[in-house]
Amino acid sequence: MKKENLALVFVMLILWTLDGLAQIQNYSLYDTDLMSPAAFKARREKVMKEIGEGSVAFFYSAPERIRNNDVEYQYRQNDNFYYLTGMNEPNSVLALVSNGVNVRDSKDSTKMMSVKEILFVQPRDPVRESWTGRRLGPEGAMAVLGFQYALNSNQLRNWIGRLSFGSKIVYVPAFSSDFSGEIAELTKPLRDAMTRLNTSVEFRDPTLLVTKMRAVKSPEEIAMIQKAVDISCDAHRQVMMSAEPGMYEYELQALFEYVFHREGAEYPAYPCIVGGAENSVILHYNTNRKKLNSGDIVVMDCGAEYHNYAADVTRTIPINGSFSDAQREIYEIVLQAQEEAIKMIKPGVDFQTDVQGKAVEVIQNGLLKLGIIKTREEYRRFLTHGVGHPVGLWVHDVGSRGKLDPGMVWTVEPGIYIPDGVPGVDPRYYNIGVRIEDCVLVTEDGHKLMSASAPRTIEEIERLMKKRGIGNEPVR
Ligand code: MN
Ligand code: MN
Repeated sequence: MKKENLALVFVMLILWTLDGLAQIQNYSLYDTDLMSPAAFKARREKVMKEIGEGSVAFFYSAPERIRNNDVEYQYRQNDNFYYLTGMNEPNSVLALVSNGVNVRDSKDSTKMMSVKEILFVQPRDPVRESWTGRRLGPEGAMAVLGFQYALNSNQLRNWIGRLSFGSKIVYVPAFSSDFSGEIAELTKPLRDAMTRLNTSVEFRDPTLLVTKMRAVKSPEEIAMIQKAVDISCDAHRQVMMSAEPGMYEYELQALFEYVFHREGAEYPAYPCIVGGAENSVILHYNTNRKKLNSGDIVVMDCGAEYHNYAADVTRTIPINGSFSDAQREIYEIVLQAQEEAIKMIKPGVDFQTDVQGKAVEVIQNGLLKLGIIKTREEYRRFLTHGVGHPVGLWVHDVGSRGKLDPGMVWTVEPGIYIPDGVPGVDPRYYNIGVRIEDCVLVTEDGHKLMSASAPRTIEEIERLMKKRGIGNEPVR
């Protein structure tokens, strides 16, 4: 450590000691709309039931990832770990022990108690906390996250044997090659045990247990996704009002991200896609460097992430505020495909065959009518992606197979993309890409369009684009 930092550290030490538990109590004060500890606890109990008697399951937090030198990428928690803990700190491990394990009572150390869940967390550390932020520590994990028991992560190595003792099945997440740093060190004994030969214990991956649970969203989760969707729609509206020829793709991206953060979202749920004209036909274009000229159509696939839950919303606009005839013709097909596909959504329906099938049928009919294709199968030249996917903790969430159930959230996102110079197509359609994407909740008796507040029809979009947004004020 540098000498000039020593005085600061000394002061921090004193403050930290005085502050102690009071600071832990304050930890969760910033966000008052986090999901309740009880919701996370209920999920842990469900996993405990699933793994059955004589089993122990471990779950790891995500590794911290280096961007360059000693600077890390903004931290994002592992989804399954977050789903079970509500914890956003790295270097943590959750152990669920179905038969329970005896520990010293955290309130009265003369007594013993049996616990079924132990969260191993980063130890409190005044020096490191003064650099990288406050930590809950074991006390905080119990007080704030409602854990039965928590320990410092450096104790995990000593506890693995005790936690696994008597277990026939040990659930350990599969090793991933990008697993590095402190969390890799922490979990090394577990991974070593998995590869040891002649073991009497069966190792299994717990991932599937949790991802199965994640497919149907609870009312609390739906509210969180709705919040991310609302923020995304606000951003789309602002961009529509602010967009004008001469702006760069990144300026629209900047406005999306401004509104996301302005409304409290922690991240974009995925890199913002803003593609004008020749870039509108590139599905996941996110270079976003082109200057947008009058006559360009712009695909904007931008969604916010709020408290770890994603939104996924796409709108396509003419940068000058009014669709050309060719753009309008393509747009109307995609919109009709989307509307008819959304109408299909209800419990019991198979997304791939029924919902996607309907969207494809409408697109085939439309392209045939415009003479862009001659046979139905040819549509694949202009629509190369799936028409929807589940949304949740991942933007492309788990649960993409099987029938729809109430509580699932899916996108419906048909598109048509006609690149420059594509043979057999009238050049007036070149460089037109259109995608319209919305988030749809499956309800008991049908569906609810979650992202209705961002305009989708040509009239609504053109009307909104006449208004003035907040993105045109000069920065200097
Ligand atoms: Mn999508
Ligand atoms: Mn999208």
